[in-house]
Amino acid sequence: MKITKNSVVAIDYTLKDDQGQVLDSSEGQEPLHFIQGTGQIIPGLENALEGKAKGEELKVSIKPEEAYGELNNDLVQDVPKAQFGDIDPLEVGMQFEVETDAGPVIVAIDKVEGETVTVNGNHPLAGKTLHFEVKVDTVRDASKEELEHGHVHGKGGVDH
Ligand code: ZN
Repeated sequence: MKITKNSVVAIDYTLKDDQGQVLDSSEGQEPLHFIQGTGQIIPGLENALEGKAKGEELKVSIKPEEAYGELNNDLVQDVPKAQFGDIDPLEVGMQFEVETDAGPVIVAIDKVEGETVTVNGNHPLAGKTLHFEVKVDTVRDASKEELEHGHVHGKGGVDH
């Protein structure tokens, strides 16, 4: 059976950046389960997996526009340190949820310089080309219930 829209797919994967550094991997964990064609994983990976079958292995490099998008400089802002209140020390990489006109956004601290803190609301993988090594673990049809709920049930999914 081949991967197509509404297949429940489980994959083992390793994700590397341009320098070959591992950013994420399913190694030692449950394979990643998702429903194909529903936007649960990045478009570039859905496209690469379409038509593949259980046991197939692939290597694919995905540009930012098919992954987490280009870096948006509007999401990088300097704010006064005082705005963080009692949090001390403020360190690069710390994450905060902030309210914006568009709803809550997770921002991370990019830089702390004197009284100025640079926060970044881009996805950590925005602007990056992603290099995936993927092995298809299982492929099956989604149940009617899974499609109604929009997520995988049972192994690797939601238990209810
Ligand atoms: Zn459900």
